[in-house]
Amino acid sequence: MSEEEATSEVAATTKQNVHKKIVYDTKDLNLWYGDTHALKDINLSIYEKEVTAIIGPSGCGKSTYLKTLNRMVELVPSVKTSGVITYKDKSILDKSFKVEDLRTKVGMVFQKPNPFPKSIYENIAYGPKIHGIRNKKILDEIVEKSLRGASIWEEVKDRLKENAYGLSGGQQQRICIARCLAIEPDVILMDEPTSALDPKSTLRVEELIQELKKDYSIVIVTHNMQQAARISDRTAFFLNGEVVEYDETDKIFTNPSDNRTEDYISGRFG
Ligand code: ADP
Repeated sequence: MSEEEATSEVAATTKQNVHKKIVYDTKDLNLWYGDTHALKDINLSIYEKEVTAIIGPSGCGKSTYLKTLNRMVELVPSVKTSGVITYKDKSILDKSFKVEDLRTKVGMVFQKPNPFPKSIYENIAYGPKIHGIRNKKILDEIVEKSLRGASIWEEVKDRLKENAYGLSGGQQQRICIARCLAIEPDVILMDEPTSALDPKSTLRVEELIQELKKDYSIVIVTHNMQQAARISDRTAFFLNGEVVEYDETDKIFTNPSDNRTEDYISGRFG
């Protein structure tokens, strides 16, 4: 690339991002599970109110990266990290950073819907109650707002006292999203949130993600490339613990810079 082309590329990138705030910034992140070097020199910025997709073949570190963003990965005793992740300019891997502060701002949705074995109402009210909210009227309002936010209010408003296990898989996943919203997070991390759902429920959740990005920053791990192409603004392609390429989703899927990205998205491996 000539110097002129490089300058204009930088200018274009700067222009695209000029109004975008960075929520999470990752610098030179490495992570080991014992001797397994699972994340290698990751540098990645997650932008506010966008959907960022993490794609790549199985075992390349997608989930691990997602779980460093809320420090859940520390639950594995053999884990060691180096490098820096900032969340809103606070260095979250520092020992002095209180992980509880992160958990109130960052919600997570897992591959398999995991509602609590409680009523639909209690599933949503659980987080706010833990944070000290006791007033029934306020809790009622939070429950309704969160269920509306997750596009499931109309389906469950007359059965709030019923056990959430009685709902379909797709409904349960939207309950889990509502449970996230109830803590008023900034960021929602999603780890293959539709892989256990049928196509119709998948579509519902994808539409919901598009709605939610107006108010939240979303990071989604998906093995489904069509899904990443449909719903994300930016895509990071992970391979063997490294970020091979990170760019606007359109660019990744139409004109990737790295041959390995091209090979992966065209189905040559993975
Ligand atoms: P992906 O989400 O892309 O499938 P993972 O982040 O789950 O990949 O895994 C990345 C690498 O880390 C793999 O080699 C996997 O075997 C290893 N790994 C993941 N979780 C653990 C764990 N709890 N203990 C040890 N190794 C793990």
